Amino acid sequence: MKVFRDTKKQHQWSLKEHSKGLKPGLVPTMGFLHKGHLRLIQNAKEYSDRVVVSIFVNPTQFSGGEDYNKYPRDEERDLELLEEEGVDAVFIPEPLEMYPEGYETYVVVEELSKKYCGRSRPTHFRGVTTVVLKLFNIIQPDVAIFGEKDYQQLIIIKRMTKDLNLPITIISSPIVREEDGVAMSSRNKYLNPEERKKATVLYESMKEAQRLVANGITDVDALKKEMIKIIEKKEHLRIEYIEFVEPETLKRVKKVGASNRILMAVHIGRTRLIDNMKIKGQAE
Ligand code: AMP
Repeated sequence: MKVFRDTKKQHQWSLKEHSKGLKPGLVPTMGFLHKGHLRLIQNAKEYSDRVVVSIFVNPTQFSGGEDYNKYPRDEERDLELLEEEGVDAVFIPEPLEMYPEGYETYVVVEELSKKYCGRSRPTHFRGVTTVVLKLFNIIQPDVAIFGEKDYQQLIIIKRMTKDLNLPITIISSPIVREEDGVAMSSRNKYLNPEERKKATVLYESMKEAQRLVANGITDVDALKKEMIKIIEKKEHLRIEYIEFVEPETLKRVKKVGASNRILMAVHIGRTRLIDNMKIKGQAE
């Protein structure tokens, strides 16, 4: 497994693989890897000839006061896991390699970035799209794999790829959950045991909404009310948003249909968790 910390070396490696007729697939991550990430890597293997994983805790997607400095990192363990997975190359740059002094260029998906998570994190998606576009330029993948765990991010990346005519296929990968339904996330490490128990309410409330929809309740306000009831049974939780949306445009709906998606963000103590679920017909 090749490990590149230098953009030029990574780029040259990718060009060489292309010249052999091989198609690289990219899995962008912020490291501290878990089974959700490993599922993305397995997907990448299906869709490409060479798998590149990037590990980069991207400073431009965190605002001041957010968890950039304390975001969990474990490079040694990550590299071991990636070696075991049979990954071909890991791109793991330092912040100054990606954003040298004088850096001032950003790419923004205007409207989609303002919604939902964008309301409480107004510069977050600008940082995400900028770093993903930079990774695409450096690594030149034919396909890139993103998890449905970050559903709004996935839709924004698809929009950027289409809008900028990038010759890259975006593949989405389903949410990997713990046995009790909590979506795997590097940030779950922040939860103390009591908070971790409470974290199941995101999954439970979405399952309940699904059940109600299956029983014919389609009014979004009524569904939200039931979800809020479940969440408010636990103390010290703060709902940031619960939305029912069209899956591709993320437009809000008032009446729920089978293709819609629930998106939600909840604060548990000092940790912000996001989750989402298809209304029906999913294997989650
Ligand atoms: P992160 O390292 O959290 O930035 O995530 C890197 C990629 O892994 C993103 O495309 C995420 O959506 C995806 N991912 C993170 N957690 C999960 C999960 N539990 N299931 C599926 N994909 C995930």
